[in-house]
Amino acid sequence: MSELLVLAHDDVKRLLPMEECVELMAAVLADLARGSVWQPLRFVVRPPEEASLMGLMPAHRSAPAPSYGLKAICIFPSNAERGIDLHQGGVLLFDGETGAVQALLDASAVTAIRTAAVSAVATSLLARKDARRLAILGAGVQGHSHLESMAVARDFEEARVWSRTPERASAFAAEARAPFPVEAAETAEEALRDADVVVTATSSREPIVRREWLAPGAHVNAVGASIPTARELDAETVAEAALFADARESMVNEGGDYVFAVREAGIGPDHIRAELGELLIGEGEGRRSDDELTVFKSLGLAAEDLAAAEHVYARARAEGVGTAVPF
Ligand code: NDP
Repeated sequence: MSELLVLAHDDVKRLLPMEECVELMAAVLADLARGSVWQPLRFVVRPPEEASLMGLMPAHRSAPAPSYGLKAICIFPSNAERGIDLHQGGVLLFDGETGAVQALLDASAVTAIRTAAVSAVATSLLARKDARRLAILGAGVQGHSHLESMAVARDFEEARVWSRTPERASAFAAEARAPFPVEAAETAEEALRDADVVVTATSSREPIVRREWLAPGAHVNAVGASIPTARELDAETVAEAALFADARESMVNEGGDYVFAVREAGIGPDHIRAELGELLIGEGEGRRSDDELTVFKSLGLAAEDLAAAEHVYARARAEGVGTAVPF
């Protein structure tokens, strides 16, 4: 009989520290570009007349050790009112030799950490080296994890946070534990003024960022809007930026920020300058000048969940963490 290791939210948080996860994400994005990790486009179960959805995100690694991963995640927008994470589900890790299920990890924790870690990879690659001012739009789960991950990417001197509900931005600023001061802004425009690095991490369906609010040479990590019918950036921002993807296939099929800009500003797939993995293996071109606007559109990849699960599982086994269940 095989054994399944169950790793709860706090286990994942403890075994996946942000700095380690940033390195892991850079490694797996490079593996994806080299072809040793493979994933299809995620499959989304969207029942008619239903606000929730389920995403199925499988991936396979062939080297150095084979494995399969599958994240099955439900997104319930109504969870915001319940005070619980919108993202609920599990990441399953399978032995790549036998297919035996090795581990089940809490997917909310994996998603919160790996997404922000990937934005840190993008920021390290694309933001100006002298970036000092950070703006975060969105004070939810991703807003919090991005405050932590952005500090890994650059030495910021200050951050401003905006959220739709002003009290959430104030509470975020008051409770923030960051190596720089964090202030609440009353409007998105105010938060963005002179910001060198911007994170958009909201559930907005309409643009919250306008091109004219962005400073010359800013880098934007656009993290919310994971579906083609929602966006956070106006079409001018996307059209005038050097645009980067986690995966081109995800961008053109799922990225509302991109899809709306195709319709409204006439851009096409050739507007995507590179995937992060291509930059990491020296096959793509990044920022061209200090005053260029760069945008990384994050959609979230199954490969990232697989790499996080492999790492957490290995550490859990080594440290005797988690609940082992006969399976
Ligand atoms: P939370 O519910 O924790 O936070 C949502 C944030 O969005 C809050 O700041 C909230 O403001 C704000 N918001 C909600 N509705 C609107 C609106 N209509 N207009 C403007 N702001 C709004 O969500 P998460 O942090 O977990 O996720 C944020 C986004 O990131 C979601 O779109 C999610 O799908 C996406 N995401 C993307 C991932 C990726 O890999 N790229 C991975 C995980 C999430 P307030 O509470 O102040 O009202």
